[in-house]
Amino acid sequence: MSILTTAIGLAKKAKHALKDEIDKRTPVYLSPVRRIERVKTNHRVCAMTFDDGPMALPASPDHFDGKPLTLVLLETLERHNAKGTFDIVGDTSGNYPDSAGKHGSATWGGIAYDHYPDIDKDHFGGAVNCPQLVERILKGGHQITNHTYSHVLFGKKPLVYGGRKHMDSLDEVVYDLSRLDELLYNRYDYKIKFMRPPHYVDKISGGFSSYDACAVMDYQYLAASFDGAGWLPCKTYEEEVEATWRPIEAALAKDPDALCGQIIFQKDGYNMARRTPIADGLEKALEILDSYGYKVVTVEELMNYSPFEDLGADDPLFDAAFWLLDHDYTIVYRNNKLLLDAPLTRGELAMMIFGNSSVDRRVDIIKGNRRFRISDVDPTHPYSGAIDLAIENGGMRTVAGRFSPNSVLNAANFQAICRNIYGRTPDISGPITHRTAIEVLAKMEGIE
Ligand SMILES: [Zn+2]
Repeated sequence: MSILTTAIGLAKKAKHALKDEIDKRTPVYLSPVRRIERVKTNHRVCAMTFDDGPMALPASPDHFDGKPLTLVLLETLERHNAKGTFDIVGDTSGNYPDSAGKHGSATWGGIAYDHYPDIDKDHFGGAVNCPQLVERILKGGHQITNHTYSHVLFGKKPLVYGGRKHMDSLDEVVYDLSRLDELLYNRYDYKIKFMRPPHYVDKISGGFSSYDACAVMDYQYLAASFDGAGWLPCKTYEEEVEATWRPIEAALAKDPDALCGQIIFQKDGYNMARRTPIADGLEKALEILDSYGYKVVTVEELMNYSPFEDLGADDPLFDAAFWLLDHDYTIVYRNNKLLLDAPLTRGELAMMIFGNSSVDRRVDIIKGNRRFRISDVDPTHPYSGAIDLAIENGGMRTVAGRFSPNSVLNAANFQAICRNIYGRTPDISGPITHRTAIEVLAKMEGIE
């Protein structure tokens, strides 16, 4: 193992340890918006996502006769019959006044904002300025997702980007996302279905998060499970190129199925050292994937293998879960897992049945446009809207002003709620888990 691989490995390990620690402390909620990192499948399929493009400037260093970077990536993908997912921006030319930070640092492209492909070169990037590249992406059958119009942070990120400007409200975030969404729809007849927030900053002022923004836009949250290292500056360009494919090779040498269902993160733009190693590294990465029989598909196609991270198409419960998901039941947690053996709480049942239709209601409750007086549920709680609807339409009740969202549901409660909503009483007993709930709800809907 080279020193480089070891260094990347250590950096990633530290990052993962931190993420695991955060995950442990973060409660997970059922949500109409799921954070898609990978899906469960035994097939050798994976997806590759390219952030921050399109970019009309050539690769750096340029080994492609001045061709725009995005076109280099597209042609490389197509030589391998691979489909890419491009997380594009709209236009960063409004992000001024600004000046560049230190070359090679996180603020290389701007202290107050990001600029793509570079500061003072905004007109060479983004969907607004590169219509031919957008057209070319779509013509090749690749996918486009919303990486925001302006790439301005949704909220504060004090550690890395303390000096950064950020958006001030959910309305501002939704307006920004809508601008790119409408551009793609009006000009290319293309409906975007996923969003990836700039630098994965989720917290939005006023008690909202990226998940609310996605819910309002009817998007899913696109993350990634495998870092392609395209953002990472190394000592030399050769090391950077190696970093884009070596971890893929290492993972597959250890386990040929390691990348099944994974989403690989890459960049359609400069790294912090203003180089584009992916331009030369992608060919090799795809050769390796080819040699193991992997098909690189769009994220949308990947999710046809299974939309869930912990339930594959071969599981007996898959069809029922898939049907409920497809019919607006909120049966999946934000981390895209079903956690089938977890006990079902009252708040979760309200969310399962009313979550998808509660998006506007929740926004109204948080903004104070609608009265919400349940003493043990905060208006900003992810289930506030669904609980309000469940009380109104589902026969779920408060006792002395309390809803007890965290108390585990018993069979008699669940039967009463089914009677109210579906007019039938399911035959159940014992503790209710998420598995039981999915089976019962599918049965109530006539799906066996
Ligand atoms: Zn970005």
